Amino acid sequence: MTSFTHNDALSIAAALTMPSRPFIGGDYRIATAGRSFKSVNPATGEVLAEIEGCSPSDVDAAVAVAKATFESGVWSQKHPSERKAVLLRFAELINKNLQELAVLESLDSGKPITDCLTVDVPFTASTIAWHAEAQDKLFSRIAPTDSNALGMIVREPLGVVGLVLPWNFPMLMAGWKLGPALATGNSVVLKPSQMTTLTALRMAELAVEAGIAAGVLNIVTGSGEVGEALGLHRDVRVISFTGSTEVGRMFLDYSRRSNLKRIVLELGGKNPAVVLADAPNLDFVAEQQAFSILTNMGQNCASNSRLIVHRAIKEELAEKIVAACGNWKLGDPLEPSTQLGPVVGANHCKNIKKYLEKGRAEGATLACGGNQLDRPGYFIEATVFDRVTPDMTIYREEIFGPVLTITEARDEDHAIELANDTEYGLTASLYTTDVGKAHKLSRRINAGTVSVNCYSEGEITTPFGGFKQSGFGGRDNGLEAHEQYTEVKTVWINLAAPARPGV
Ligand code: NAP
Ligand code: MG
Repeated sequence: MTSFTHNDALSIAAALTMPSRPFIGGDYRIATAGRSFKSVNPATGEVLAEIEGCSPSDVDAAVAVAKATFESGVWSQKHPSERKAVLLRFAELINKNLQELAVLESLDSGKPITDCLTVDVPFTASTIAWHAEAQDKLFSRIAPTDSNALGMIVREPLGVVGLVLPWNFPMLMAGWKLGPALATGNSVVLKPSQMTTLTALRMAELAVEAGIAAGVLNIVTGSGEVGEALGLHRDVRVISFTGSTEVGRMFLDYSRRSNLKRIVLELGGKNPAVVLADAPNLDFVAEQQAFSILTNMGQNCASNSRLIVHRAIKEELAEKIVAACGNWKLGDPLEPSTQLGPVVGANHCKNIKKYLEKGRAEGATLACGGNQLDRPGYFIEATVFDRVTPDMTIYREEIFGPVLTITEARDEDHAIELANDTEYGLTASLYTTDVGKAHKLSRRINAGTVSVNCYSEGEITTPFGGFKQSGFGGRDNGLEAHEQYTEVKTVWINLAAPARPGV
C-alpha cells in the first residue's frame, strides 16, 4: 500500500459520484418524504453530499420488497453453494473497488485513508467471504431417538432482517452483519447512520452487480426516525443493532410494542486494560495501549479507555504511554501517513470537549492533550488523564474519543475490582507474564472478549459481543453470528405410524 499517495486519494475523490438516494428493490429510488440531509466531511466541515431521507412509508416499501424476495425463494431457497458463489463475487467486487471505497469512507467518516485501505474495506470483503465459505459446510443435526422416530434439528433463515448501524465503522459493521445475514438466506433492510451513509449505498450497488437478486439488500437512509420505523415494523423478524446503550434500550421497546421481534444489541463499552506488576515489556504495553485508545480516534466501542495499573509501575508506564501517544501523526485523513484524523462531526466533538472540561474540573491530572486543534474540521488531540478515580465522570462514561484515563491499583484483587466496576462489559485486556494469573484473572473479568498481553478484539473466527449493558441477544463474528439470523426448528417424524387398512 506504500505506493498509494495523497495525490491518488485526491484524484479519486475528485472523480467520485456521490450516491444521494435510498437503495430499494435493486436500484436507487426517490424518497417520498421530500427532504434531505447532509453528509459532511469531518476533516473540513464541508458538505460532501445531500442525501434524500426516507419516510416511514419508504421503510414500508423496503420491508415489503425484502419480504417478497424472501418468500419468492430467489435468494432464500438458492442452493447454498450458489449463494456462496454470489457472495464471494460480492466480496471480490468490494476488493476490486478498494481504493474508491476507501476514499469514500475516509471522506465521509474522517478515518485515516491507510486504515480504510488496509482494514475497513479489505476486512469487510474478507468477512463477507468467510461467512459465504462457511455456510455450505454447516449441517443440521439429528437427535438421538429410538428407531421409531427421526428428530431433526434444523436452522432456517428468519425472513426480513433489519440492520441498524453506527458511524464509527460504517463498512465493517455492515460487513459483520451482512455476511451472516445474507449467507443464511435472509433478505435485508439496512439503515446506516446518517453521518456515514455513502459506502453502504455503494455496497448495495456492488451487491446487485455481484448477482444478489434485486430486493434482497435494501438501504434506507435517514435519521433515528427511520430506525424507529424499522424497529416497529411487524414484518421485520430481527433487528441487529450496533450503537449506543441508550438507543439499544429503545429497540427493546419497539419490539415490545410491535411483534416481539428478536433484538440483538451490540452497545457501548468502557473497557479496562489491567496491567499487573509483572507485565511484559512496558514499551510494548504502552504501544498497545496507545493503539487501543487512538485507533479510529478512540471512536471504537472496544477501545481500552480505562488503564488500571499496579502502583509499582504506574509512573513508568504512564510516561511511556504519553510518549507513545505523542508519536501518532495527526493530520489530513487523505494523507497516507496520517494516523489520527478528525472525530466524526461537530456535535460529537463538542461532546468530547465537555468530557475534557469535566476531567479537569473533577481533579484528574492532564498528562497530555486536552484540546481541539485550531484548524478546520473536528480534530482532538490525543489525551491522557492521570490520577483518575472511580467517582469521576471520565472514569464512568463512554467518551468515544482519543481520551485515556489512568487509575492506580493497590494489588491484583483491587485491579479486578476496578476493572469490573462499570455498567459495561464489552472487552478488556490483561497484561501479566504469569500464566496462572493470566488464566485465572481473565476468567474473573466480566467482558465478552478478554485479550491477554495484547489489545485485540479477536478475529473473524471468534465471537464478539458484550456482557452487562454492552449488549445481549447474539454475537457478531464466528459461526455464532449465524445464530442471530436463523431460527431453530425441530422436525419430529414418527416412523412407525400404523398403516391405514387398504392403503
Ligand atoms: P447511536 O446514536 O445509538 O446510533 C446508532 C444507530 O441508531 C444510527 O443508525 C442512528 O441513526 C440510529 N438511531 C438513533 N436514534 C434512534 C432512534 N430513536 N430509534 C431508532 N434508531 C435510532 O450510536 P452512534 O452514535 O452511531 O455510535 C456510537 C455508539 O455505538 C457508541 O456507544 C459505541 O460504543 C457503540 N458501538 C458499539 C459497537 C459494538 O460492537 N458493541 C460497535 C460500534 C459502536 P442516526 O445516527 O442516523 O440518527
Ligand atoms: Mg460524513
